[in-house]
Amino acid sequence: MLSRNGLISHSMPNPDTKNPYQLHLAELNWQEAGVPVANQYDDIYFSTQHGLEETRHVFLQHNQLAERWQTLQKNQFTIAETGFGTGLNFLAACQLWQQSGPNTHAQLHFISAEKHPLSHKDLSRALASWPELERWANELLAQYPVLTPGHHRLDFAGGIHLHLLLGDALECFEQLRHSHLPEYRHPPGFAVDAWFLDGFAPSKNPDLWSQELLSMIAQLSRKGTTLATFTAVGEVRRQLSTFGFNMQKVKGFGHKREMLKGHFIEYPANSSSPQITPSAPENKTPKTAWYINGSHPMAKNRHVAVIGAGLAGCFTAYAMARRGWRVSLIDSQPAPAMGASGNPQGMLYTSLSPESGLLNQFHLSSYLYALRLYRRLLAQQLIPEDAIHFCGLLQLAHSEKLTLLLPKLKSTFSQLPELVSFHSPESASKLAGFDLDLPGWFFPQSGWASPAQLCKSLATHHAIELLSECPIREIVRENDSWQLRDDRGQQRCESEVVVIANSYHSMKLEQTSNLPLKTIRGQVTELATNPLTHSISCVICHEGYITPAYAGHHHLGATFDLNNQRQQVTAEDHTRNLQSLNRALPQLKASDIDQLGGWAGVRCASPDYLPLVGPLHQHKQFQQRYAQLAKNAHAAISTAGNYYPGLYLNVAHGSRGLTTAPLCAELLAATINQEPPPLPRRLLTALNPARFTIRDILRGKVLK
Ligand code: SAM
Repeated sequence: MLSRNGLISHSMPNPDTKNPYQLHLAELNWQEAGVPVANQYDDIYFSTQHGLEETRHVFLQHNQLAERWQTLQKNQFTIAETGFGTGLNFLAACQLWQQSGPNTHAQLHFISAEKHPLSHKDLSRALASWPELERWANELLAQYPVLTPGHHRLDFAGGIHLHLLLGDALECFEQLRHSHLPEYRHPPGFAVDAWFLDGFAPSKNPDLWSQELLSMIAQLSRKGTTLATFTAVGEVRRQLSTFGFNMQKVKGFGHKREMLKGHFIEYPANSSSPQITPSAPENKTPKTAWYINGSHPMAKNRHVAVIGAGLAGCFTAYAMARRGWRVSLIDSQPAPAMGASGNPQGMLYTSLSPESGLLNQFHLSSYLYALRLYRRLLAQQLIPEDAIHFCGLLQLAHSEKLTLLLPKLKSTFSQLPELVSFHSPESASKLAGFDLDLPGWFFPQSGWASPAQLCKSLATHHAIELLSECPIREIVRENDSWQLRDDRGQQRCESEVVVIANSYHSMKLEQTSNLPLKTIRGQVTELATNPLTHSISCVICHEGYITPAYAGHHHLGATFDLNNQRQQVTAEDHTRNLQSLNRALPQLKASDIDQLGGWAGVRCASPDYLPLVGPLHQHKQFQQRYAQLAKNAHAAISTAGNYYPGLYLNVAHGSRGLTTAPLCAELLAATINQEPPPLPRRLLTALNPARFTIRDILRGKVLK
């Protein structure tokens, strides 16, 4: 039988992946008795006879997980693994977490890197071997992600979160480091508590045991972090010792003589550690620590004030509440979602590009996370059934630009039909329930939702107190906490941690007055359904969009007017919406339209169209601290950024809040609660609100 400690050396040819969305999936053979064998590595994932016992012995027991969880003092615990494979280790950890009974709000984060993920079908077949883990296996299978490279965050019952990092382990873990600058290796914030080193045997897969990766493992650890692995290879033991682990050989599982376990002491100051250049340097200032928050206290009383009860605020409030925080959700209006989040039928939209730039990575990750979260909220009956409709969304190639894009998208995404499929006018017409003259692409898991219903449902969480008609005009720091005062100077709330999520209104607060936010007015037109339109069965996007009918109406949208804050619905904008509809669907003449209603809102966007999410920086101090960058963009300024203690931002979702707000809220909650982030560091930096201050310094813009 093949063994994980086999000695045959085998190097893995790297697939030519010019396509940034392509992963080389696991190629499996199945032995009798359902044992999966990885062709690429010529090794087994587990033995069906005793695989689960081996997992328990090697990884769970030798990291002392049961004992540590029974006496867990903090509110989260992080396991990280090299090689997710079939997820057996993960499922066994889920079962133990449930049995060990940590406190009700504790969160288990399980981070696992996987270069060659199993297809859904193979995963399902592999996990059928473990009936006692069926409950978690079903949860995993139900939300197993579209297999694109990058971070995928999956939430499970019992406060368990799986961070499936698809790609090479070294690259993925490098993106979880706080910084590549040695002085910020271990700032306050998340660190791994226990490691499962589970690559195939070092002789068969040296990449997962490289010096660089073992050094990275040490850099993501803190004093007391434990580690266990089935291998007892001397070189692995020596390397881990060099990087600060106290290593021990102990009895292996079954007939195996030995395995390794260890605990982390500290990263040796003068170790000749391999230099791992970040795969994506922090924009143009790789030697500057502006993105490190040096003032990140852990709040003592786990209370947060969230200003703004639109999508960004409500999802942030919910993300904190489900971690056991008390939340004061504050809005100037009488009810949630009375601003730009009040549109009646919002699309679950994402754009696609054959390139994988930061904007595209962010939009794809947040779209996929939002779909998973919405399905979960529906299954848990936390949102009403009619708040969301997964009817699919069809993007028509309505312009020359999109016509040229279509074949490129097709060759890039053709292997991901569960994400997107490509259609001629005939098959697009069948999907849409309406005769179309244009080809396009279809997102089968997408659809539309009612943002206001979502916001209202989330705000009913028992840990959230809604303070309505409460316009906050001033945030003042006193005695280590923030006082929130209204327009009459009256204090309405006090909290150590505050999240500003009130869109462009945040420009009225002193601390956020310098942000380069812009307003975009959007109007949607309500169209009574008629015999021509009532068959429309998915959202159809052209330059605008039309939704399937709901309660007798379609919605067409939306206009896009920069720096316009008028809330009133205008006849002129209805005409614009109708004209754009008629250009794409000429069968729908204006004469078909009998009754018109509508809605207008003002969204908030940033100059680079990414939201602003993260700790809030002190603009003036930042300008002074990093002024040297104006003369030398490569200056090494290793002082951490000046951030307001306990103040965070979540704004500028533009018209994409339905897809971007859920992941951004999770990112913020993870940051505040000192958990592993749900996104790679390059995206954290790309979302950091201080990026515009740094950009302006680099461009030599005069100090304000
Ligand atoms: N922990 C897994 C389980 O519970 O089923 C078994 C892991 S299996 C022994 C090793 C895994 O490492 C394989 O799935 C393989 O594709 C993955 N792998 C190999 N090289 C890798 C690399 N450089 N980065 C990430 N994953 C890698």
